[in-house]
Amino acid sequence: MNVHDSEKIAGIFSENGLISADHAENADVIVLNTCSIREKAEQKFLSELGRLKKAKDYNPGLKIAVAGCIAQQQGKSLFKRFPYVDFIVGPNNIDKLYRWIDNKSIGTALEDNPEYHKKNLPMQRAGGVRAWVSIMYGCENFCAYCVVPYTRGKERSRPAQDIYDEISSLAKRGFKEVTLLGQNVNSYGRTLEEAVHFPDLLRKVHSIDGVERIRFVTSHPRDLSEELILAMKELPKVCEHLHLPIQSGSDHVLHLMNRGYTFKEYRRRVDGLRKMIPGISITTDIITGFPGETEEDFRMTMQALTDIQYDGIFAFKYSKRPGTKAIEMPDHVPEQVKAERLAQVLQLQEDVTYQKNSELVGQVLEILVEGPSSSDPERLTGRTGTNKIVHYCGEREDQDAFVNVRIVKAGLHSLFGEKLF
Ligand code: SAH
Ligand code: SF4
Repeated sequence: MNVHDSEKIAGIFSENGLISADHAENADVIVLNTCSIREKAEQKFLSELGRLKKAKDYNPGLKIAVAGCIAQQQGKSLFKRFPYVDFIVGPNNIDKLYRWIDNKSIGTALEDNPEYHKKNLPMQRAGGVRAWVSIMYGCENFCAYCVVPYTRGKERSRPAQDIYDEISSLAKRGFKEVTLLGQNVNSYGRTLEEAVHFPDLLRKVHSIDGVERIRFVTSHPRDLSEELILAMKELPKVCEHLHLPIQSGSDHVLHLMNRGYTFKEYRRRVDGLRKMIPGISITTDIITGFPGETEEDFRMTMQALTDIQYDGIFAFKYSKRPGTKAIEMPDHVPEQVKAERLAQVLQLQEDVTYQKNSELVGQVLEILVEGPSSSDPERLTGRTGTNKIVHYCGEREDQDAFVNVRIVKAGLHSLFGEKLF
């Protein structure tokens, strides 16, 4: 979501005649688009901003803006700590960068912006044939650990027609894959006057000629309806992959987290998905060491991973976020225990992922080629519909095209294939 917000920021600048600098030292304007989901992201930003003081000393005309969730959360206090910052802009006020470019004033844009979701901002997209498309902003789920509802504000869905028009224009420009973005895409449409639910939106996007793959993140397990599973089955362009964050395998912890489902309910949805869409890949997010998580709770998370056999996971140590409910909860877990549990989760999942990848050896899969492999420039890299990375030897012309490959070897993070002609 932040990467896509940065595309919007770059779009506004380029519309105003600014071009990207090759290096921060050569820039007249620098925007740090920040993330505050975990403390580590915040620390990275603080050290980067510290380094920029030198750039400002060297070039006093340099203008620095802080955007994103840290900007929203820390607001004006950033000016006190970093007096060389010129502008502080929250994630729902990206359009205010126009104002800043015009008068270069010192200030903030942190207010509620109730029309933001109706604005169609220009974008400087990363290129290639894959594009991010925002379908909704904000989140009102208030999971106890999460800062997003406080930084990204009220849930608001973009009008379906705006989304349709944006994707139609992308398709005309040769984009083949779109990823629909929202903190909880399953609740898309809840705030719209016209009744458009997420499965309806998928059908609408599916009807656009030229779009060949549709992905979406993130789905909240509580709101994953049977209707959505049916739409995924019925619509061939919708990729056979679902990211469905479970967070914990313990009902006690899920309740404390305010997630709104039990493990059994989650499990039923996974069974439904696998029954309706054989071969679907399912990935998840895990938090270790949420306040109050006992050894027994943790064991249930390990059991859930063994039981469900995910294709891949993102796992994190619980991180205290200012302003959230969890920070006030009793029984915070010591840092070392959180880290040990995280290591155990990652170790267990490595075996599962490798096993799952190995099962694909011998299969012929279609991949959308993204470009040269970062680890071996002799090879090309693409992704399967199930979102697995495949490296293979191919020609330059394969870039941005669909290619069939036979999987010959499995790795932990990717697969190796041979192109079929
Ligand atoms: N809206 C999405 C994504 C939220 S952020 C969702 O509900 O799934 C992505 C992931 O970051 C979350 O799924 C969660 O696993 C993790 N996360 C969020 N806040 C966190 C915190 N305070 N500490 C550790 N992990 C956190
Ligand atoms: Fe955060 Fe929960 Fe909203 Fe996801 S659904 S953004 S975890 S509050």
